[in-house]
Amino acid sequence: MKFGTYTFQPETIKGFDFNVLRVKPETGIRLTPRNDMQSNIAVFADNVAVRNHPDWISQSPLGPAKMGNANYNIYWDIVCATQPEHRAEQLRYIADVDRHSPGIWLNSQYFADHGHCACQRCTELWKKSGLGLLEWRKKEITNYIAQVREVVKKDLVLCLQPDPVTSYDRYGVDFDDLAKYADAFNVVMFSKNYATPWYWEMLARGFKKLLKKPFYISFYVFGPGDNQKDVPLPSELLTVTVRCARAGADGFLYLTDGASQLRDFQKSAVEQVELRDRLRNYGGQPVQEFLDFVANWEKQ
Ligand SMILES: [Zn+2]
Repeated sequence: MKFGTYTFQPETIKGFDFNVLRVKPETGIRLTPRNDMQSNIAVFADNVAVRNHPDWISQSPLGPAKMGNANYNIYWDIVCATQPEHRAEQLRYIADVDRHSPGIWLNSQYFADHGHCACQRCTELWKKSGLGLLEWRKKEITNYIAQVREVVKKDLVLCLQPDPVTSYDRYGVDFDDLAKYADAFNVVMFSKNYATPWYWEMLARGFKKLLKKPFYISFYVFGPGDNQKDVPLPSELLTVTVRCARAGADGFLYLTDGASQLRDFQKSAVEQVELRDRLRNYGGQPVQEFLDFVANWEKQ
């Protein structure tokens, strides 16, 4: 089991197995990749691309994939997943980032959500394909990921939304198809609190049953601009990690803006002596591995 950091700032931190930098988050802003941090790239969610090319935005009967369209859980602008210039540019960009860092973690490498994309190009491509709509969408995503695999020489980790049942219908994501190209998956389970770990454990069990490659789970610790009172408690993060570890996840990442919030999390986790003792009884080798990992922070 491996444990990683997942940050917006190019800062590494001791006490984790690896560090993932958000070199291109959904805002579309690009940071310089680092040779000591793996690189996370949001592919189709890209505010900058949509600002520069408003006609590239993904369309649906319920409106475009634009921040503020309350028909969807969309917090940024998303480019149509078949936009040929964006696809080609992202492919070149991913290849370049791969040359300058030890691994590629993609997210938003699929359609925006159900009903997307209904732009003129997608409608024509679909009709020409002779396939059912969902089958066509899946083929578009899988074929693009096959092209990505060609240019990524190091590890390729593909993000999945925390939806084990309808990812195919919503995003065009077929877990078995993507498993042919991914070294691992990263299921994002971001939430401002983890007060009810039962649900997250249930999702982890679902993914364990379905995925044919190892999978990480990413938890939310402290995002950019967050207030301390609005973020998950360290006790919740420890508990939810244990609950998902026993469900079979292969590793965990912790999202923060930068290194200082991770150091705060480590410090708070170390102070939770009683809770960590209690969690030892939650079952199985993976739980012990995680708690031993946290115990190592005591020495820092
Ligand atoms: Zn489209």
